[in-house]
Amino acid sequence: MSEKFDTTRESALLLDDHDSLKDFRERFYLPEGKIYMDGNSLGLLSREAEKALLNALEDFKVLGIDGWMDGSPPWFTLAEEIGKKQAALVGAKENEVVVHSSNTVNLHNLLSTFFRPEGIRNKILIDELNFPSDRYAAEGHLLLRGLDPAKHLVVVKSRDGRTIEEDDIVEVMTDEVALAILPSVLYRSGQLLDMQYLTKEAHKRGILVGFDCCHSVGVVPHSFSEWGVDFAFWCNYKYLNSGPGATASLYINSRHFDKKPGLWGWWGYDKAKQFDMNPDFQPAPDAGAWQIGTVHVFSAAPLYGSMKIFEQAGIQNIREKSLRQTGYLMFLIDSLLSREPYNFRVGTPRDPRRRGGHVALEHDTEAVRINAALKKRGVIPDFRFPNVIRLAPIALYTSYLEIWQVVQHIKEIMDTGEYQNFPRERGTVS
Ligand SMILES: *Cc1c(COP(=O)(O)O)cnc(C)c1O
Repeated sequence: MSEKFDTTRESALLLDDHDSLKDFRERFYLPEGKIYMDGNSLGLLSREAEKALLNALEDFKVLGIDGWMDGSPPWFTLAEEIGKKQAALVGAKENEVVVHSSNTVNLHNLLSTFFRPEGIRNKILIDELNFPSDRYAAEGHLLLRGLDPAKHLVVVKSRDGRTIEEDDIVEVMTDEVALAILPSVLYRSGQLLDMQYLTKEAHKRGILVGFDCCHSVGVVPHSFSEWGVDFAFWCNYKYLNSGPGATASLYINSRHFDKKPGLWGWWGYDKAKQFDMNPDFQPAPDAGAWQIGTVHVFSAAPLYGSMKIFEQAGIQNIREKSLRQTGYLMFLIDSLLSREPYNFRVGTPRDPRRRGGHVALEHDTEAVRINAALKKRGVIPDFRFPNVIRLAPIALYTSYLEIWQVVQHIKEIMDTGEYQNFPRERGTVS
């Protein structure tokens, strides 16, 4: 995007005027007196999500057990219903997505199905900058199968500590690798990996590939079917705005529907016969088979409501605005904060094809204290060790004026030396 921006407040207001998604902001609860830049970590509550949750409670209050079939929507098929709605967000068939459990538990579920070490093909490939939970899960599955993570976990190195080169990943796709677990967007730098290319290269070499899409679903469009991705998993409390600990999602490519899930339970049973309570397991003929136990109705209901907003806004429009907003933020950082005495740097790739939904603002010596000073001023970013302040303008509810204001706040914090009033230790949740 070679759009021309400028640094004036007026130009921020002009960008807001021309923003076709600006009305969505009114449908969210924005913390009063704050500028919320952390929607990539915990997205804000919308009226739709709130309504859907209250509705589920009301159904429980009024219907009791009849909510399973008579709730609106019925709880019995809630996970499948939301899966259908999410399919459009990730370019999947309607029965390839289901919501279930939490993200890391789903990864365990998927590893137990798709990691089938055979002969010399007995390694799992991950990357050095991966979200640590994914690495823990992969190590756990190696140990469960009597394999030593020190030998059987292939960890792709980063050249610069921020990004991973796709070709460095492909280079270690040897015939010893059974399965690759990769992020769509790296949680610190915000780099977007080329999932299509990585899937193609993995498949050429007989390797299965699954993506952790926590940092991309809801902000970046995906085409899982077209790319042929084997499986994917993501949480719904970041860009999907479904609340802390909301039910997570998994995608299974239909070519794997014949596989028996590694961890199976009655909620994955063929729905028509689930209540026959047969001792033999007959899995649902689709992604539904990967459910283990009863759907968490109150943790899934907000997502049901939230999906209405995504259906109305359209993921392509969201992506377009998100790229313009992160582009604008990077422009302001470059123009106002990159030189002496500020010395900030952008750690996120500039190329829109390699960029997710947030900007990693780096400051070598004072990132913790600047982050704390921002919070004191009512700006909510987050800090990632050792030198990254993550800033996420959210297309559905962040204005261009707020982006402009955040950069002014940072500049003032540096100009006044205000950050020096804060300790160097970071908080427990940052
Ligand atoms: C947020 C996040 C997680 C968290 O997983 P949970 O099981 O929901 O706690 C995992 N992976 C990535 C890449 C994330 O961004």
